Amino acid sequence: GSVFSNIVRAPEDPILGVTVAYNKDTSPIKLNLGVGAYRTEEGKPLVLNVVRRAEQLLVNDPSRVKEYLPIVGLAEFNKLSAKLIFGADSPAIQENRVTTVQGLSGTGSLRVGAEFLARHYYQHTIYIPVPTWGNHPKIFTIAGLSVKTYRYYDPETRGLDFKGLLEDLGAAPTGAIVLLHACAHNPTGVDPTLEQWEQIRQLMRSKGLLPFFDSAYQGFASGSLDADAQSVRMFVADGGECLAAQSYAKNMGLYGERVGALSIVCKAADVASRVESQLKLVIRPMYSNPPIHGASIVATILKDSDMYNEWTVELKAMADRIISMRQLLFDALRDRGTPRDWSHIIKQIGMFTFTGLNTEQVAFMTKEYHIYMTSDGRISMAGLSSRTVPHLADAIHAAVT
Ligand code: PLP
Repeated sequence: GSVFSNIVRAPEDPILGVTVAYNKDTSPIKLNLGVGAYRTEEGKPLVLNVVRRAEQLLVNDPSRVKEYLPIVGLAEFNKLSAKLIFGADSPAIQENRVTTVQGLSGTGSLRVGAEFLARHYYQHTIYIPVPTWGNHPKIFTIAGLSVKTYRYYDPETRGLDFKGLLEDLGAAPTGAIVLLHACAHNPTGVDPTLEQWEQIRQLMRSKGLLPFFDSAYQGFASGSLDADAQSVRMFVADGGECLAAQSYAKNMGLYGERVGALSIVCKAADVASRVESQLKLVIRPMYSNPPIHGASIVATILKDSDMYNEWTVELKAMADRIISMRQLLFDALRDRGTPRDWSHIIKQIGMFTFTGLNTEQVAFMTKEYHIYMTSDGRISMAGLSSRTVPHLADAIHAAVT
């Protein structure tokens, strides 16, 4: 017999498992609204033109080799990534108080940050919102942090439970880490207003809570890279410390290239440099050094003003298409006279709508309409098109009536 014969089968990942089920369905009308990846109006994955251009430049440059990158990744990429999230004129960058390391997209950057905190930060408790991206509790637990939660979403209002959030963070122990979605909260699409962010900032700083930003959707939420980074920049502008994990999966469509960054903003340059020396000790035994191709694409685009501008136009087009799908779906439900208030569909921002549909309604829509989504009722607006909105609206209408 096998030495592994008593291994029990693990369940599918709750998000990626949706695609597994979708792939098995042979219906021609099937629709995958589970996974958070952008699709064109034709339902196809999109490689940005500017990415194709950057890849052409890289391929045609004979000086490019396939050597190992340093442990912290491509230096130019790291600098440009910090500028992108903190702002080109950020004093923290100018004062060399920021250390940035290349990571394996958002997930890998979160994991490296978490391991660093578990080894070197005195507080091991991290607060994550309820609900949050399903991978968060797993990433932080496996890194050795102790995960607690704070209230975030109010199902009654389908908006922010601001009072609950302030109460829970107010009751957190001094120094606790707080995971914040920089923008386009996943799965709810509900973000604090700037005034609310300011109150969160004041509360967190007064209690010495350490912000850890997860920025997976910069530019993808509103179409503006600056607007979507405002929460992070607010916390950096006060001179305090924070961590930020960035992903280029969505905003550059580089999902499979696994390109991201972890920045740690410190109070002083010498601290930042010692922090970086320890980040290397986290990374080296984990994956040695990060892959070169995706980071080279990003650096090529970010350092050239013409390509950068082309990127912002393509990014805005993706954001706008998603926003227009919100309006189409909302209109389609109104036209059908579907009971309930659906205004949250147009109020929420980012890739997802948190529909408020329950597990049974989701199961019904999958069985009867071949529509796939996570069981919490989250749908990816990026997977919709004007062709498929009526089918989805029919399914929702049938599910709630
Ligand atoms: N954080 C959030 C909130 C996300 O939604 C995602 C992707 O779905 C990620 C992080 C990380 O994605 P990736 O590792 O592909 O960059």
